[in-house]
Amino acid sequence: MIDLHTHSTASDGSLSPAALVACAHECRITRLALTDHDTVSGLAEARDAGRKLGVDIVDGVEISATWANRTLHILGLGIDPGNSQLVAGLRAAAIARTERAREIGRRLEAAGVSEAWTLTRELAGDGLIGRAHFASMLVNHKHAKDNTQVFKRFMVQGKPGYVPASWMPMEKAVALIRDSGGVAVLAHPVAYALTTRKLRAAIEEFADAGGEGMEVVSGRIEPADVIRLARLAEEFGLWASAGSDYHGPDKPWLKLGHVPALPSGSRPVWEHPALKRP
Ligand code: AMP
Ligand code: MN
Ligand code: MN
Ligand code: MN
Repeated sequence: MIDLHTHSTASDGSLSPAALVACAHECRITRLALTDHDTVSGLAEARDAGRKLGVDIVDGVEISATWANRTLHILGLGIDPGNSQLVAGLRAAAIARTERAREIGRRLEAAGVSEAWTLTRELAGDGLIGRAHFASMLVNHKHAKDNTQVFKRFMVQGKPGYVPASWMPMEKAVALIRDSGGVAVLAHPVAYALTTRKLRAAIEEFADAGGEGMEVVSGRIEPADVIRLARLAEEFGLWASAGSDYHGPDKPWLKLGHVPALPSGSRPVWEHPALKRP
């Protein structure tokens, strides 16, 4: 059992890295990538826990990047978390996140949500703050009934809690990942609501920039999309990845290790030389 896309309290997941690894061990996952948004701060703890429990931890990250005025998520698998350029790039992303969060807080307060910034900052704790933390705060304080509703009402383009972020260009995210020894994987390609044409353009530019893989199985994907993505991966010569995008037990729609098998014929990214184990 392999899961190559998960989150911890280092970003917007609800389990600490150690608790996440313990949970992975319980559901018999043998290989787990921790891929927090724009941070590698949870990796040391995850690796320690992995060593104790016999779970093979892949050092990962999910970088927020810009392509054609949109945000795409690029997973870095098998990165070197100490690589100085990667660290500098992630530091800039963390600053962009924090500044965006302050602005989201201001706008929500102007829209009548009192103490939006303070309450959300508290909720995020030591983790890198994001829209999901604002969403939880809004649900906790009864501004919406659940996560789906809160995103629709507050956190998407055109709504008071949406502030565009200045992420690094996609090409830069790919270069940082590669230069630190990792494999760049385009995350959840169907989550961007792109037309088929745009999606192909995104994948083509990603591959041209040095991207080597794409998620074929991710989160709550439909079987028809798995087939479609597997074909695209093959066409563009990309390795196929699989991950749950688990964020914690309180987000029950995504289960840890819930990663259906890749279609036969796909080249699993865990056989990539940078990720292959002896
Ligand atoms: P951010 O990177 O701060 O813009 O936040 C993106 C994160 O918000 C995603 O990784 C999810 O955790 C969460 N998210 C985005 N859209 C939705 C949605 N429609 N429903 C629930 N969670 C969402
Ligand atoms: Mn998230
Ligand atoms: Mn993502
Ligand atoms: Mn994710």
